[in-house]
Amino acid sequence: MTTDKVKQLIRPEVRKLSSYHVSPSRGMIKMDAMENPYTWPESMKTQWLEELRDIAVNRYPDAACKGLETLLRQVMGVPDNLSVLFGNGSDELIQIICMTLMDNEPRNVVENTVLSVEPSFVMYRMIARFLGMNYIGVPLNSDFSLDINALLEAIGRYKPAVIFIAYPNNPTGNLFDEHAVERVIEQAPGLVVIDEAYYPFAKKSFLSKVLQYEHLLVMRTVSKMGLAGLRLGYLLGHSKWLDEFNKLRLPYNINVLTQACAEFALRNIEELDRQAELICQARQVLFTDLSAMQALQVYRSDANFILFRTPENQVNNFDKSLRDHGILVKNLNAASLVLKDCLRVTVSTPQENEAFLRALRLSLV
Ligand SMILES: *Cc1c(COP(=O)(O)O)cnc(C)c1O
Repeated sequence: MTTDKVKQLIRPEVRKLSSYHVSPSRGMIKMDAMENPYTWPESMKTQWLEELRDIAVNRYPDAACKGLETLLRQVMGVPDNLSVLFGNGSDELIQIICMTLMDNEPRNVVENTVLSVEPSFVMYRMIARFLGMNYIGVPLNSDFSLDINALLEAIGRYKPAVIFIAYPNNPTGNLFDEHAVERVIEQAPGLVVIDEAYYPFAKKSFLSKVLQYEHLLVMRTVSKMGLAGLRLGYLLGHSKWLDEFNKLRLPYNINVLTQACAEFALRNIEELDRQAELICQARQVLFTDLSAMQALQVYRSDANFILFRTPENQVNNFDKSLRDHGILVKNLNAASLVLKDCLRVTVSTPQENEAFLRALRLSLV
């Protein structure tokens, strides 16, 4: 096919996009993607494999994920009057929400617009863009707090169909002021999604507020709890919204192995909780050690990663030097002006965190 044909057939918005970049990581200590570094004890693995033996991979999965939902409700304490919708990762839920809301017809209450803050999770912007929705990213203050006046002004002006707030925020790691978030919820003309991907490390939630605000949804994922490979996210909210989203969910989006493994993991939640606790302890140690390095500016985190700023115009050298030492972190220098010179490191095991700190000290001289 000629390039011209591609131009004729593919929307300019799509041709302008670049596909999501994942750094090659073979043989590296992976501290770039907020993965949990821990595996399961042998006894747990044995039991897990035993359960997998009888999975009917010849059958389609339970489209409604009933068993998984029942267990999740118990383990996560989901109020009875809220509904649950599962996605193939919360990425898919963001996509489903946006697909359901996208609308080029002018309406009087909301516009074809997704609003979030900048910097935040890149998928809000990417998905809005590839669906042809407008994306408004309201800059955070320089301390990464919400610029509440700018936010309220933008909400009034752009009337977003949906607002995404990551709580804690990625890539900055902080929890926004609860009252400021609540003002956003109160002023929103459309839906508000609180993305609690890092709930296992922050333990702060808007779930109880969903009962109070009908247009509020809480989204979580099992990825950061140690199950990133399963691809499972869930959305909690009133059925009047989730029933509509559910119509655009592809049938069988959660495969049999994901359902079975997630159920198994939820039945062994103490192990995942124990791992999250280890990561929170290691976060404190890593924060203290990073903060002791005078040349760095280190930001407090309520998530399983830490953002830090390297000396001016040296970030790419640091990134390269860390790689040369076998350590992979996320370079955010080009992601946004306020992230200039910034790297983000995932909190890992004490051993890997030490290896990272050693490599970083060598890069500093
Ligand atoms: C990592 C992350 C997600 C991704 O979740 P998946 O379930 O793995 O798709 C969602 N939101 C935020 C803010 C994240 O940092």
